[in-house]
Amino acid sequence: MPKSGASKQPSKSLTGKEVEYLKAVFKLLSGRDMVGSLEVADAMRVSCATASEYLGRLEEKGMVKRYRWRGVSLTEKGLGEVNRIIRNHRVFETYVYRFLSMGLQDACECASMVEQCLPEKIVDSMCSALGHPKTCPHRNHIPGGRYCC
Ligand SMILES: [Zn+2]
Ligand SMILES: [Zn+2]
Repeated sequence: MPKSGASKQPSKSLTGKEVEYLKAVFKLLSGRDMVGSLEVADAMRVSCATASEYLGRLEEKGMVKRYRWRGVSLTEKGLGEVNRIIRNHRVFETYVYRFLSMGLQDACECASMVEQCLPEKIVDSMCSALGHPKTCPHRNHIPGGRYCC
């Protein structure tokens, strides 16, 4: 098994909704180090109270840090998790699209179902079989894995 039990995630794993919030925070940050919870609420089209509730859950799981009146930032753990999920999604989608001749929209939907629980080994093998692509068919960047150069 690779590093420090980071690949095991039983009780503390995120729900699908929490992952959506984590991804939203990541996307909103894009270079900044903090994002307002109002921005998160707007992006998710929910009330401030709902956004705060989910951000609170993410904080309990060590994924974000909240600063009163200022907003939220991603922790190192949160950033690692969001990168892992994005990589899983995009590698899987690219693989299915290219080798299983599935339409891109179907491929993307299937990727959303499995992105959280794909074993790193499988994703790395798919990535190698694809020749370590830099982008998915949507032209979004694929974060590199252990064996990508
Ligand atoms: Zn994509
Ligand atoms: Zn690779």
